[in-house]
Amino acid sequence: MAMALSAFAPQEIYFNKYYHDDSDSLKDSYCGYYGANEQFRSKLTAKELVFQVLKNRVDNIDVDRCCPGAEDPFFVADMGEIYRQHLRWKMNLSRVKPFYAVKCNPDPEILRLMASLGNGFDCASKAEIDVALSTGVDPSRIIYAQPCKTKSYIRYAAQMGVKQMTFDNADELYKIKTNFPNAELYLRILTDDSTSLCRLSMKFGASLDVTRPLLELARELDLNVVGVSFHVGSGAEDPKAFCKAVQDARVVFDQAVEVGHEPHTLDVGGGFSEDRFERFAVILGQALDTYFPPHIRIIAEPGRYYVASAFTLAVNVIARRIIQDPMDPSGNTHRLYLNDGVYGNFSNTIFDHQHPEPQILSCLDDSVASPLSHRPSQEIAYSIWGPTCDGIDIIAEHAILPGVVGVGDWLYFENMGAYTRCSATRFNGFTDNHEVIYISSEAGARALLNYRT
Ligand SMILES: *Cc1c(COP(=O)(O)O)cnc(C)c1O
Repeated sequence: MAMALSAFAPQEIYFNKYYHDDSDSLKDSYCGYYGANEQFRSKLTAKELVFQVLKNRVDNIDVDRCCPGAEDPFFVADMGEIYRQHLRWKMNLSRVKPFYAVKCNPDPEILRLMASLGNGFDCASKAEIDVALSTGVDPSRIIYAQPCKTKSYIRYAAQMGVKQMTFDNADELYKIKTNFPNAELYLRILTDDSTSLCRLSMKFGASLDVTRPLLELARELDLNVVGVSFHVGSGAEDPKAFCKAVQDARVVFDQAVEVGHEPHTLDVGGGFSEDRFERFAVILGQALDTYFPPHIRIIAEPGRYYVASAFTLAVNVIARRIIQDPMDPSGNTHRLYLNDGVYGNFSNTIFDHQHPEPQILSCLDDSVASPLSHRPSQEIAYSIWGPTCDGIDIIAEHAILPGVVGVGDWLYFENMGAYTRCSATRFNGFTDNHEVIYISSEAGARALLNYRT
């Protein structure tokens, strides 16, 4: 699956750098915090690098002659982006140790980089525990952060030495008592997740009126409660959700001490995203310093934050239909059919409430402006569909692209790293295992992963 970098003449790529100091939209989201200029600059360079790799690849595919599937969608994964996100985390939340949420994207190269950056892993199943352990990390760097676990998986965790796990109900405590009495337990509490994209608190979390009885039951069963955990919901909008959750966690910490436990760790879960990270970090950091003295260890379970922007997906236009608009004979509607859709990597449109935005990668219509030029262009509205026979398989109802896109052309979608491939299916016989071309726009990540330049 991993393709050797050398296949793409990396020397050419790495020295082929452009600087666009006038790219205002990107700059806007990067201003106003420490290190912003450097990060802005390296991110722009990285985007151009990714574009070159995408372009080199599709320029070598001839859809009129190629073998079946040679025009399948593929990803370019920039491990340098994950590395930059890690530095950003360290700069803004140095007190909090990340345990990467494996479910978000269990790609082996991602896990390898996380392990070498010193991060831990948040796993929710036997298979996730296995992939995390396969990186060679000590089992103490894994938390089994699923409050409702399969009994046989609890025994498996015990066998592998994965001691840290969460619970939020009494049945779970009895299960843990019989299957892994020496486990190190985190009581997961309910949060206000009403502003998040993917709400989790209707499924998991103990409310504050049941935390004390649960802690007492754990004590009676002679189980070891080492901390409290929460999750404010994935794609959280409101940083204040963290404040309330940290305050509530303090209450439950005190209850645990009163009942006779010795809690030492707070787990602040996931919910961080790329664009709002600094604002969240300031508010969370202040809440932590207010309520949790320095000897309390703080961990987190970020998923989306680390990987969303690292993966870019290239997709081929396999069919097109131009329909006369009966209401407006001068305007046609354009439908594009791609070889990936909501049953594939665009599963994020359904499960993760995303709206992926197409951009043109290569296009036979040479009046089309490339992202690297500033030519004026003709804007056309398209609806964009997936390859299966199901009508639900639509990626975007209304997308504007700068020119006429036809059969055989390529589109690309940025920010396709989180909750995409991992929830893809093989419905209608399309693959869920697309090739990934790994590159790194950062020398640091290149060195950690042993990529050639
Ligand atoms: C999904 C999940 C995460 C990761 O959430 P992100 O929003 O992607 O950061 C972390 N912890 C738990 C328990 C989860 O279920």
